[in-house]
Amino acid sequence: MRPALLGKPLAAGNILCQACGHFCRLSPGARGRCQVRANEGGQLVSLVGYRVAALHVDPIEKKPLFHFLPGTTTLSLGTQGCNFHCHFCQNWSLSCVRGPIQGDEVDPAELAQAARRLDCASVAFTYSEPTVFLELVVATADQCRQHNLATVLVSNGFQSPQALKLLDGRIDAANIDLKAGSEDFYRNICGGRLVTVQKNLVAMRRMGWHVEVTTLIIPGHNDSDAELTSIARFLAQELGPHTPWHVSRFHPCHQMPHVPPTPRATLLRARDIGRAEGLHFVFVGNVREAGLEDTLCPGCGHTVIRRLGFHVTEMALRDGACRHCGQAIIAPPSRSLP
Ligand code: SF4
Repeated sequence: MRPALLGKPLAAGNILCQACGHFCRLSPGARGRCQVRANEGGQLVSLVGYRVAALHVDPIEKKPLFHFLPGTTTLSLGTQGCNFHCHFCQNWSLSCVRGPIQGDEVDPAELAQAARRLDCASVAFTYSEPTVFLELVVATADQCRQHNLATVLVSNGFQSPQALKLLDGRIDAANIDLKAGSEDFYRNICGGRLVTVQKNLVAMRRMGWHVEVTTLIIPGHNDSDAELTSIARFLAQELGPHTPWHVSRFHPCHQMPHVPPTPRATLLRARDIGRAEGLHFVFVGNVREAGLEDTLCPGCGHTVIRRLGFHVTEMALRDGACRHCGQAIIAPPSRSLP
């Protein structure tokens, strides 16, 4: 347990947690909706603190980030806990907290040193929801700056404005879930709000982060033409046509064991809708099939990054631009990175 950031004392020993859009009001002894931030004796504390429950070296393509430091690896870590309760959670053993907090205490400075030693170009805060372990994100990101490591956030995008301010200047790239195009889906299936996520996506882009977006396509829930069009239109118009959109296959799990996996045809329909709305880069994820996750140059149509699974097999870029026609593909990072 550690003191938590963004607690605001209220009357009668209550505390307001300002880390995410839920803004939980916690009476003494109470936990927030995420189950890992609590009011202990009038102080906001993080029950996970620096206790990491998952730690791996992953290809950055696994986050997925396709246009940020492609072909590199990232030291990826997460604690228990999440501020959403998605019925389709693909990582529920980590996001749902039952019983004592699991994980091993880490030292943020040692994490950054380990990332360097393991030849990673970045550290990624991922697996569960980084907003609920904000203290570890901030401390580790500061260490990453000292070691010239990039930082990556994989998130549901439900931060409070106060949390985003803390992350400004500490995060370089993000993959944000845009889970649906309707408030009903967010409210009934995730326990969140679409409008907050949309606002945060725009704010992240304004802060200079490289942003990619993922939508898990769930048959019968968010796969209508209207819903997919609404998501794609928002991305193209508010974040720009260069925003990579990952449309990803759902596999039955957690509270949706009876929903079938997403048909390939649905994923291709989502891709076509994204392209029709003007997005240059739409990738079909969780389907191991050559060609569905390649980057094609929007200028000349050549394949400029070829991938299979999480691995880059060929790159035809020069200084982030297409080697054939010079079209910019990958925006330069906002600061000098490895
Ligand atoms: S992080 Fe969000 S869900 Fe957790 S206590 Fe704070 S406001 Fe509530």
